[in-house]
Amino acid sequence: MKKIVMKFGGTSLATGENIRRVANIVADSVKKDYRVVVVVSALAGVTNKLIEISEQAKKGDEKKIQMFTKELAEQHLVAVSKAIVNKQLQKETAKIVANTISELKKVLTGICYVGELTPKSRDYVLSFGERLSAPIVCSALRDLKFEAQFFTGKDAGIVTDSNFGEADPLMDYTTHRIWQTILPLLEKGVIPVVTGYIAADQDGVVTTLGRGGSDYTATILGVALAADEVWIWTDVDGIMTTDPKIIPSAKKLYLLSYQEAAEMAIFGAKAMHPRALEPVIKASIPVRIRSVFHPDNDGTLITKEPEIKLSAIKSIKSTEVVKAVAMIKDVAMLNVSGGGMVGAPGSYAKVFEVLGKNDINVMMISTAVSEANMSLVVRRSLLGRALSTLEIALLGRGLVNEVTAEDDVCVIAAMGANMKGTLGVASRIFTAMAQKGINIRMIAQGSSELNISFVVKEKDGIAAVRAIHEEFKLDKI
Ligand code: ADP
Ligand code: ASP
Ligand code: MG
Repeated sequence: MKKIVMKFGGTSLATGENIRRVANIVADSVKKDYRVVVVVSALAGVTNKLIEISEQAKKGDEKKIQMFTKELAEQHLVAVSKAIVNKQLQKETAKIVANTISELKKVLTGICYVGELTPKSRDYVLSFGERLSAPIVCSALRDLKFEAQFFTGKDAGIVTDSNFGEADPLMDYTTHRIWQTILPLLEKGVIPVVTGYIAADQDGVVTTLGRGGSDYTATILGVALAADEVWIWTDVDGIMTTDPKIIPSAKKLYLLSYQEAAEMAIFGAKAMHPRALEPVIKASIPVRIRSVFHPDNDGTLITKEPEIKLSAIKSIKSTEVVKAVAMIKDVAMLNVSGGGMVGAPGSYAKVFEVLGKNDINVMMISTAVSEANMSLVVRRSLLGRALSTLEIALLGRGLVNEVTAEDDVCVIAAMGANMKGTLGVASRIFTAMAQKGINIRMIAQGSSELNISFVVKEKDGIAAVRAIHEEFKLDKI
């Protein structure tokens, strides 16, 4: 009997009708004799709204808390009424929703009075999205006459470090706990419904696994339960050659290696959380990305050694050099320059030390052999802080004489395992840019040769993605 962990993203859980669709997908698999563990995200947009309201609460805006919790309750109660037919079940679930929201209201009011939002209290607030969606999905399954039980990540036994906002699981401890909580239910034919994204540290304090972290919850559970596969259900047919919202003719990739998929996730193909593949790589558990709107479609299979399996799928060539292209928005570029950096050991280290100490993550780096300047890409929201800390720490000390920034840029990344060792890929990419009149501001290619990333003005971003998609004929893949 196959064990499958299925994760449903916010886009698949936008409305009560969608939740019913999700329940039916789970039901179909259970009828096929699969043992299924369900992992759910918050309803679409809810986590973003929780981030907003926690900031407003910090500023002391109590009125907004009233309005927000009222709207949140309405949204979830409408979902309850559409997702569940049985009146008794509806009533029970509505009560859970009301109780959960009244707890949230207390937490937000506390933040409002104290005027302080710590990483710990922020994670607590953000946990409410999944705490509200999981009971609704669970009841929708019971409504279809399946035995189901919902768990928070904490109750399921997912134990993490205390790195609030980006916590990582303590896998051995977690596995031990999950064998006690989830495994026995699964063996009895009960469907566990677990909140994605949220867990708890060793002291039982709620943590979150980073944005999009429900994917991570699914793979953590997959490994702990030694599942046969992990299925990530979303609103697109799989991992595509580029974001289909940018280029509608983007094609689905049937098969990707863990390495390729991780590369794509890191580079902004939102279809997957960047760290979600770490646990399954070690355990060699295949992951499938599938669409709730086309459940007959097999989706994208992410596994070890794709070439072996590829030969079994005759329609797919394994020779594509560039398989996918991504655009990463909301970034900014910093240029640090100064003759004092030339031949001065530790000068680059100084730049990174300043940024690291101020919690500014560097996404991309490029330097020239002249050593007189270095370009860095950071999240746009961190630009102001990055610029001022670099200026304070470095200017006027003989090393750096100018720090400049551009905030109207984006990163374009072309990816594919077959780029390694293939001549002329960079030339084709940059010729395609030149032909469209797109100026390149910065370039980086790691020695892994799995991707080439470069920075262009944001206004040229879509044209750049389209040009690479055309150059490598990705819509014919
Ligand atoms: P979920 O709510 O299911 O977690 P996400 O919004 O996190 O969904 O991810 C799915 C979205 O990722 C798609 O709707 C799509 O627009 C976007 N996306 C970006 N790049 C890609 C890509 N290369 N392949 C598939 N989807 C992509
Ligand atoms: N709800 C969380 C987020 O929006 C986790 C997830 O959706 O995977 O980031
Ligand atoms: Mg996601």
